[in-house]
Amino acid sequence: MVVARSLRRNNSVTWVVAGLVTIVLIFFLLSPSAPSPSLTAHRRQQDAAEHSLSPPTKPFLKKSGRGSSSGKRTPPPVVRYNLNELNSTASPAAAGEHVLILTPMARFYREYWDNLLKLTYPHELISLGFILPKTKEGNAATAALQAAVAETQSGPVDNRFASVTILRQDFDSPLESQDEKERHKYENQKIRRQAMSRARNSLLFTTLGPATSWVLWLDADIVETPPTLIEDLARHDKPVIVPNCFQRYYNSSTKRMERRPYDFNSWQDSATAQELAKQMGRDEILLEGYAELPTYRTLLAYMAADEDSGADPHLEVQLDGVGGTALMVKAQVHRDGAMFPAFPFYHLVETEGFAKMARRLGYTCWGLPNYFVYHYNE
Ligand code: GDP
Ligand code: MN
Repeated sequence: MVVARSLRRNNSVTWVVAGLVTIVLIFFLLSPSAPSPSLTAHRRQQDAAEHSLSPPTKPFLKKSGRGSSSGKRTPPPVVRYNLNELNSTASPAAAGEHVLILTPMARFYREYWDNLLKLTYPHELISLGFILPKTKEGNAATAALQAAVAETQSGPVDNRFASVTILRQDFDSPLESQDEKERHKYENQKIRRQAMSRARNSLLFTTLGPATSWVLWLDADIVETPPTLIEDLARHDKPVIVPNCFQRYYNSSTKRMERRPYDFNSWQDSATAQELAKQMGRDEILLEGYAELPTYRTLLAYMAADEDSGADPHLEVQLDGVGGTALMVKAQVHRDGAMFPAFPFYHLVETEGFAKMARRLGYTCWGLPNYFVYHYNE
């Protein structure tokens, strides 16, 4: 079996998160001349880590003249975190909860960054983490991302994020081409999604800090969300929750901009899919959205009401599989061990495997059929 053989090769590739190549921890000094009576500046100062390595998801504000004159380096301080006091509540901003936004990124889209900047959740409570492949395309994306980070982190204080971490993965991308048609070919799915699992896990395990309350997974090609995305998803107070991921496109027959479902990985299971799984070999996986493999699962994408129907955007449905284009997770779920299996887990991989793993850990996954985020249209 061709897929299985190439998979084994792929598995043997050692995946070192070599780089931290660029750990851009852009911790700019708050300009000393600027008066800083604002809540933001105060909160930043209070929350700042005492050492650049402790921990990576907290802001680190350099204190001038520290330890340098004597030539003696001060060791990192020992910091005590009481995880019992770390909450993920329905009103996270009021409670000062830290959100970690994680993005695997093969391409940099300005629209993604602009959308990120518009998020209304206090930026000083948001840390960003990225992982990019070490390909030509990945290099270009890294350069563009670094430029955007530098611009934002030296701009107005209220726009700056608490911290930014950029990782480079050091294995070759399993696919020659990142073009949508190639990416979505059925026979490419298994190696592709297993590689994505590794990228997500590396990113997660490298950046999750002791102060992180929420993890928001946001793909690099999500170019439009409500600015209140974090508040809106958190307000449901669910361990795992996904909005509906659509795509805007120009319909040449109606001559209008319209929208269509994009992500088919959020679903409720079906008897057919379970039966299919039972008959599968242990290394085979179920995929969603392919005619080759009709599962008859109920897809979140098709539960959406019409655009102007005035349907309740906060309608909740329980899900068995989730997609990762935008995915809000209470940090506790990841801390308990739920990750993105790069191996068939109940015949599921990556984000769908994650949903299953969360479920096995006793959590439930939820979807919002009428709350939308939009994927870039290539
Ligand atoms: P699709 O929308 O389901 O076709 O998936 P994408 O190809 O858009 O991938 C999902 C996310 O992972 C996007 O943010 C991509 O930029 C990113 N991505 C895709 N391939 C790779 C890869 O090989 N390495 C890393 N680190 N990120 C990737
Ligand atoms: Mn995508």
